[in-house]
Amino acid sequence: MSNFYETLGVSTTATPEEIKRAYRKLARETHPDVAGEASADRFKDVSRAYEVLSDPEKRQLYDMGGESALSGNRGGGGAGANFGFTDIFETFFGGGAARPSGPVPRGRRGQDAIVTLNISLPEAVFGAQREITVNTAVTCPTCHGSCCRPGTSPQTCSACQGRGSVQRVANSFLGQIMTTSPCSVCRGHGTIITDPCTECSGDGRVRSRRTINIDVPAGVESGNRMRMPGYGEVGPGNGPAGDLHVEFRVAAHDVFSRQGDDLVCSVSVPFTAAALGTTITLETLDGPRDVTLKAGTQAGDVHTIRGLGAARIHRGTRGDVKVFVDVTVPKKLSEREKELLRELAELRGEEIHEVTPGAGIFSRLKEKMGL
Ligand SMILES: [Zn+2]
Ligand SMILES: [Zn+2]
Repeated sequence: MSNFYETLGVSTTATPEEIKRAYRKLARETHPDVAGEASADRFKDVSRAYEVLSDPEKRQLYDMGGESALSGNRGGGGAGANFGFTDIFETFFGGGAARPSGPVPRGRRGQDAIVTLNISLPEAVFGAQREITVNTAVTCPTCHGSCCRPGTSPQTCSACQGRGSVQRVANSFLGQIMTTSPCSVCRGHGTIITDPCTECSGDGRVRSRRTINIDVPAGVESGNRMRMPGYGEVGPGNGPAGDLHVEFRVAAHDVFSRQGDDLVCSVSVPFTAAALGTTITLETLDGPRDVTLKAGTQAGDVHTIRGLGAARIHRGTRGDVKVFVDVTVPKKLSEREKELLRELAELRGEEIHEVTPGAGIFSRLKEKMGL
């Protein structure tokens, strides 16, 4: 699916007014009633893009993580999944044609929130229980979300007699349509709160710190996001809470780094041990394990320990540990060690042209050129 901004042909910095204008133009061109059934899919794309970009909260989420941020990483559903033609009419006519008339509930859904959770590599590999504290909106403890001062209740709106809507005639690109629009006095609620709760100023919620337990799934990687439905901000007027999106960031580990489901590390062994073979003890995330390197191990050889890698998310199996072997060559040798190496080379019939310090290629070149 293409980018919502591209779908509407606007820049990512477009103002709400520009987005609305672009959408109206495209909707007019692609509406199946006007352009025929062939353009129905295009109309749906345009509508979907507008539905997200016209909502500041959804747009912000979209900007932060693309469309997946709106529906979470797993499962379907999520914001706007059931978006249909009905919503278009609401968009154009302020909630008329297809929407059943009647007061609009005061409660609205709360905002989604995103938090970043820093975890260690072992926590990412094995999963973990973590606690985070977030500053969020919670239901007002004084009015319990009713928005009214305790002992009072909302009064019926006299402008619309509690219906929440008034009728009017609107001109649209489809012709003149009798529409019902929300009452501006009560903003469609049908009631007016004359005595708002003082604790929350009639919002039905207050800011508060809240502790949330997070179940880090075994196998997560940096950048993975988990959606926790209902753990976002509580909505105004006792509206349902939004979702919390947790993004994991895995800290670098001293020994291991991650490659897919595998954990890779490198070990250095002296060239003598590589030639003769050796057993080393490697501290894996599951504890110490012996790694046997056969005689004749080469630099760059890889030793695999099966099943000690990262968990494969939701599958219960694990990747491997891969040990890359680095062979070290001594930088300084004693006279005795040199003798032994010369003897070894002779024994193996290997020709050596030893380079003595200070007599490198450059100085030999100088000699040849008589400098
Ligand atoms: Zn309150
Ligand atoms: Zn009213």
